[in-house]
Amino acid sequence: MHRALSFAALLLATTVPAAAQNSAPQPTPIVDTIPAPRDIDYPGTIQLDIDATNTQQGIFQVKQTIPVAKSGHMVLLFPKWLPGKHGPRGEIEKLAGLQILANGKRLPWTRDDVDVFAFHIDVPSGAKKLDVQFQFISATKPEQGRIVMTPDMMSLQFNSLSLYPAGYFVRRIPVQARVKYPEGWSAASGLPSKAVGSTVTYDKTSYDTLMDSPVLAGRYYRAFPLSDRVTLDVFADTPEELEAKPEQIEAHKRLVQQAVTAMGTQQYDRYHFLLSISEELGGIGLEHHRSSENGVQPGYFTKWEEGPGSRNLLPHEYTHSWDGKFRRGAELWAPDYRTPTRGKSLWVYEGQTQFWGYVFQARSGLVSKEDTLEAYASILASLDNRPAREWRPLIDTTNDPVISARAPKGWVSWQRSEDYYNEGLLVWMEVDSILRERSGGTKSIDDFARRFFGLRDGDYGEVTYTFDDIVSTLNAVQPYDWRTLLNERLHGVSKRAPTAGFERNGYKLVYTDQPNKTGRGATTDLAYSLGLTLGKSGIGSVVWDSPAFNAGIDLGDEIVAVNGRGYTSERLVTAVKLAKDSSATIKLMLKSGDRYREVSIDYHGGLRYPHLVKTASGEAGLDKLLQPR
Ligand SMILES: [Zn+2]
Repeated sequence: MHRALSFAALLLATTVPAAAQNSAPQPTPIVDTIPAPRDIDYPGTIQLDIDATNTQQGIFQVKQTIPVAKSGHMVLLFPKWLPGKHGPRGEIEKLAGLQILANGKRLPWTRDDVDVFAFHIDVPSGAKKLDVQFQFISATKPEQGRIVMTPDMMSLQFNSLSLYPAGYFVRRIPVQARVKYPEGWSAASGLPSKAVGSTVTYDKTSYDTLMDSPVLAGRYYRAFPLSDRVTLDVFADTPEELEAKPEQIEAHKRLVQQAVTAMGTQQYDRYHFLLSISEELGGIGLEHHRSSENGVQPGYFTKWEEGPGSRNLLPHEYTHSWDGKFRRGAELWAPDYRTPTRGKSLWVYEGQTQFWGYVFQARSGLVSKEDTLEAYASILASLDNRPAREWRPLIDTTNDPVISARAPKGWVSWQRSEDYYNEGLLVWMEVDSILRERSGGTKSIDDFARRFFGLRDGDYGEVTYTFDDIVSTLNAVQPYDWRTLLNERLHGVSKRAPTAGFERNGYKLVYTDQPNKTGRGATTDLAYSLGLTLGKSGIGSVVWDSPAFNAGIDLGDEIVAVNGRGYTSERLVTAVKLAKDSSATIKLMLKSGDRYREVSIDYHGGLRYPHLVKTASGEAGLDKLLQPR
């Protein structure tokens, strides 16, 4: 039908004469026959054999031997709700070639038609074990998903490479894994292992610990001890990228020392930072109890002087060993990977981790205090220019990993995103500032951290908590109406971001015509002037209700000319600068598909970039917070 047909005409054209009675079906009931997880031992140890040598095509060959105690209905599950992803993100679409054998014969399987991560089988009598095989056909182009194998490196995550029996808490399912890597490669993981040639046998462990112990492996590898319990395992595309200077390693050692001092314990026996420096391997930042997966672009060590780059990543992921992995919001803990987790405590799990990530980068010197202040300013400005906060409370953003699964958004400033990270940081800064003020400078968020996170040295299980536990721990540090404050911050809507913590800690947000050093990944950042940012692939964001927005610009547009001349970033910036002292509008020629249009932007506010300036005299709360311990 042609688009020009009016709605009324459409109605007329599709109106059907009234029938005596419309057909009206009843729903088919959904019957869940997948056994619920129980806190009992699985009878026997799963053997998991992985051939990870086909790095050219990115194909993992998986073989599993799963002991069975009885015949009849059984369900095998592919991990679905992955810890740290906060959503149902298992890549089930990449499982192929599934065969299940018992007594040497192939068993038919049926995929559950509601939970497509579940496979039903009927175990024949007399069978003592199942022989399972499949391939995990990993992404070979970024649009298929994260690249986990390159000819020189791999990120091996056991949750993509195994099935587990339904009906048991995953901590009660014993498993032993063995992986064959390409010849001459090294492999690092938080799980102890023994290597014979290129085959590595991992210590027998529980299924949940194996899932929490990914491997980074590759051709070019260097290990740097950071403490008696912590190692930095670095893999890179080329040997040159492994050349860390002693002072760079010293800064990583100070990160460990500062975090352990603040938390008071270590929630692991040994810890491995698995760091990949690669153009080809997909980037990642994923926390585990005894390791973290950290994927950065080349230049991590070699372009150290150019700025902080990705140096917030390791402080963030390391903090998670305490906040998120060991202490976990009750709804974010689940007995298996089929039970959905719920994100309402992510403002602690990610928000306070974000908070400590910036504190530890400054305390360790991984990033200078000056650059950390610039990063804070960028965070504050971004949240303070987000009109979505008028309709969407912070707590609702904790549903975002499920709502949008990190897919790009058109209008972030009117939709919000996973704001519980950065706005969580703001909330915890406010908590810190109140602790300092009310205690006359004797208490701070460090006191909360030691009480809340540092409980049992070496314990890498999980201790769950509720909102009440947070309130009562804060009250034990310093009495205050924490419940009301936190409820307002989490459930309230407001025009402006909660910046009071920075202000009470002696700093405030200002805008000047000097660019912010962090640049927020944009090549041209005019977010707080024209209301748009531009990256390598054109317009990266348009701020809702900004001059650019009100001129009708959207993400699908390309700027082809500025005031009648071909677009360059410099010309656009100059145009904004010149418009400040004139009544002339800024004229942009936009291209969208094969349509062109000119817009005039009546903006005369000049360039505006966010910075923090100190308002307190002497040593302010924020100065104290960022000081090494
Ligand atoms: Zn995180």
